[in-house]
Amino acid sequence: MGKTKLSVMVQNLFETSKSPLSVADLLEVLQRQGQAPNKTTLYRMLDRFCAAGVLRAVQVPGGAALYEKHTTPHGHLLCTQCDTVECLSDIPMHSFLPNVQQKMPNKQIESMHLSFSGTCKKCTSSNTF
Ligand SMILES: [Zn+2]
Ligand SMILES: [Zn+2]
Repeated sequence: MGKTKLSVMVQNLFETSKSPLSVADLLEVLQRQGQAPNKTTLYRMLDRFCAAGVLRAVQVPGGAALYEKHTTPHGHLLCTQCDTVECLSDIPMHSFLPNVQQKMPNKQIESMHLSFSGTCKKCTSSNTF
């Protein structure tokens, strides 16, 4: 399957987004741009992008499945007040992984997700109590 207009649009969204995107986020933006993609099509496309190493799935406890552009794996902050997920690019996971792997000889780690929950900058500064 070649590059469809939709897949180019989706890639561009990830290219410009500073935070991970859910399928719901993508649908909303694409609809605003006059597209009406099928949810299943979108999920399949995201799976393909992940398999190709273009995107990575981000797992945050209790949240929807999120995807982001494949950069250095890093931690994420889930804001308990506004539910946004922020990339913690300054907390790269390669700083932990060798350590973790060392403590688990004879086991093979395939993926690792690092997430924190708390309040984002915006919510912290708007707290008035
Ligand atoms: Zn927040
Ligand atoms: Zn991220």
